[in-house]
Amino acid sequence: MREISEKEIIEVVKTMCIDANRQLPKDVTLAIDRAYQCEDSDLGKETLGILKENASLAYETLTPICQDTGMVCAFVEIGQDVHVQGSLEGAINEGVRLGYQEGYLRKSVVNDPLFDRKNTTDNTPAIITYDIVEGDQLKIIIAPKGFGSENMCQTKMLKPSDGVQGVKDFVLKVVEDAGPNPCPPIVIGVGIGGSFDRVALLSKKAMLREIGTHHEDERYAALEDELLTMVNDLGIGPAGYGGKTTALSLNIETYPTHIAGMPVAVSICCHVARHKEVIL
Ligand code: SF4
Repeated sequence: MREISEKEIIEVVKTMCIDANRQLPKDVTLAIDRAYQCEDSDLGKETLGILKENASLAYETLTPICQDTGMVCAFVEIGQDVHVQGSLEGAINEGVRLGYQEGYLRKSVVNDPLFDRKNTTDNTPAIITYDIVEGDQLKIIIAPKGFGSENMCQTKMLKPSDGVQGVKDFVLKVVEDAGPNPCPPIVIGVGIGGSFDRVALLSKKAMLREIGTHHEDERYAALEDELLTMVNDLGIGPAGYGGKTTALSLNIETYPTHIAGMPVAVSICCHVARHKEVIL
C-alpha cells in the first residue's frame, strides 16, 4: 500500500488552481491559433486575435484569463493500492481554498443554491468525482468551470428510436440555444449512454479530452467530425459575432445503456477551457 500525504495533495491542488486560471492548456491554445488562421469573418478573426492576446497577457502578467475563475471540478482517479494519510476530500478543498486565496482568484461559490446564497468566501467546496482504478497512483484533474458556459449545458433522455439523427438534432439545438452566451469559440463534450446521472459526467469527461483526439470506435469518431462541422456551419462565430469558428472541438464519450433508453448530454465550455492534471 503506497502512502500519499494530505500535505502533498494540498500543495499540488493549490498550484493547479492558480496555474489553470492563468495558463490555457496547450491543445486549446493551438486550436485557437488554427482557428485564427482559418477564420474568414473579419470580426471573427479580430475576436480570435483578441482572445490570443488576452491569453498571452494572462500568462505573462500572472493574472486570470477571465474574471470568472470558476467553480472547481476535480476528477480523481485513485489507485486501489493507495492510502491517503488524512482526508482526500479535505485535502482537495484545502488546496482549492489556498489556491484561490493566494492566487487572488475570484471566489464564486455560494453555500446554499436556493435560499441563502451566501458566498463561502474561499471558493469551496469543489465538485469532486472519484474513480477507483487499479494501481498505486493518484491522478487529479482540476478544471475550474465558469458558469456562463455551464448554464448552457443540457441533458435529454432520448428514445432508442431517435437514433443518430436524434443525437445530431439535440446537439445542434443545445448549441443554437446557447448562442453567444457561453463565450464562443466553445469546447463541446457529448455523452451518450449510461443513465441520467452518468451521461452528464460522460459529457464532462468528453469535454476535457484532449482536442484532436477521437473516440476509439470509428463510427463515433466520424460522428464527432460531422457534428463539429455542423456546429461550425451554424455561423455563431467567435463571441457570437459570426464566422465559422463556433466550436474548437467536439468529443464524444459513450457507455452501455438500458434497452429502453438513450441518454444524451451536452457539456459546453467556453474558449477558457481550463484544466490541469497531476499524477502522484
Ligand atoms: S463563459 Fe468562460 S469566458 Fe465567458 S465569462 Fe465564463 S469563464 Fe469567462
